[in-house]
Amino acid sequence: MCGIVGIYNVPEASKIAALGIHALQHRGQEGAGIISYNKQFHTHGGYGRVDHIFGSDKVIKNLPGDIAIGHVRYSTTGGTGQNNVQPLFYNLDFGGFAIAHNGDFTDSAYWRDKLSKEGAIFQTSTDTEIIPHLIARTKGIDPVDRLLTILNKVKGAFSIVVLMDNKLVVARDPHGFRPLVIGQYEDGYAIASESCSLDLIGATNIKDVEPGTVIIFDKEKKETFYLDKKVTKHFCIFEHIYFSRPDSVIDNQLVYDVRKRIGEELAKETYVESDMVVPVPDSGMVSALGYAKQSKIPFELGLTRSHYRGRTFIEPTQKIRDLGVKLKHSAMRLFKDKIVTVIDDSIVRGTTSKKIIKMIRKAGAKKIHMRISSPPVTGSCHYGIDTPNRKELIAGESNVKEIKEFIDADSLEYISIEGLHKAMKSKGYCDACFTGNYPVKKQ
Ligand code: AMP
Repeated sequence: MCGIVGIYNVPEASKIAALGIHALQHRGQEGAGIISYNKQFHTHGGYGRVDHIFGSDKVIKNLPGDIAIGHVRYSTTGGTGQNNVQPLFYNLDFGGFAIAHNGDFTDSAYWRDKLSKEGAIFQTSTDTEIIPHLIARTKGIDPVDRLLTILNKVKGAFSIVVLMDNKLVVARDPHGFRPLVIGQYEDGYAIASESCSLDLIGATNIKDVEPGTVIIFDKEKKETFYLDKKVTKHFCIFEHIYFSRPDSVIDNQLVYDVRKRIGEELAKETYVESDMVVPVPDSGMVSALGYAKQSKIPFELGLTRSHYRGRTFIEPTQKIRDLGVKLKHSAMRLFKDKIVTVIDDSIVRGTTSKKIIKMIRKAGAKKIHMRISSPPVTGSCHYGIDTPNRKELIAGESNVKEIKEFIDADSLEYISIEGLHKAMKSKGYCDACFTGNYPVKKQ
């Protein structure tokens, strides 16, 4: 769960990159970094949010050049820590090499072990670092050829931006697990994980970087290459359910529209009489709108959310996470003697739903029906979403009835996998976290 940006042939590229990653802050709040290039590489990054790290003109001035890449981090493989902040930078035989990555290489444990035994000294615990180590060991003269060789070798999920040899290289794996879009910006180009980032900076002609393609920007022009492996699209369905920003168009669909259709489908499948439909903000907001529209039950913003703290997941221990939910949400005074349908996008550990229901009950609700706009999350993601392992996933260990009891709802229902796919309206999604159908095995 990360966000990436690449800017090519744009004056003050790092300033544009900083704005670009700011619009991707929802994809990662743990750390952020930018590397720019003008005859030499300039790097800045740190722990924390984008405005905190790149809030001063002085920092941006120290990142000169008209090429830059940026990254916001939410740790999946490799855990937390300052040295895991991306973009990563290495001095290789042909010069500097900077990389920012969203996704997870499914063979990173294999490569890390093999390379370490051969003497490689890893400086981070990220899966991304296998790329520079592999390139350093690849024969050939042309750095781009060497990168292509490696991208044909590694497995799993990668949307990447690379700065090297005076060029910007952008690539998306043949499954297209994670999003990546490209647009034109002034006389150059802008690339980002989501279109909301390119909309913010004012890029035009925005479209998806197709799965399995590698685009090289060099001497103000762009050239497209194709990876060897056959393209079999498996775009992450959870990006539409939860992760991407609703104003982004990804995979040719506006996330807001998809989320609303999921809510409508959820209402068709799980309708229950009640006085109001209430979203868990912000994650249940759009699907609740769809649910209310379909069910004709009044939509109420019965819960408020403080925006001054991060997502529930960020803290590592259960104790702080429990407290975190209270810090994050509070109940309006409108639940007394009401029957309430609460909508959220997913139940992961069950912590949020349990706290929310307790809160609404305390506020006087007569009955609480919980409706979830994704099927039960039964398996962890191998392709870049930070889901805990199966043991910690409540639906990995318990059935719906047991979960209903745990969260103390009067009823609990999820959208079916068929209903979810119906709402997507197109094919080619990875739904492994719900079905266990993993398109690429972890090595
Ligand atoms: P939990 O409290 O563990 O059941 O988490 C469920 C809440 O976390 C829901 O409100 C979701 O919107 C949100 N959520 C779902 N998946 C993730 C994720 N991978 N990272 C952070 N938050 C998530």
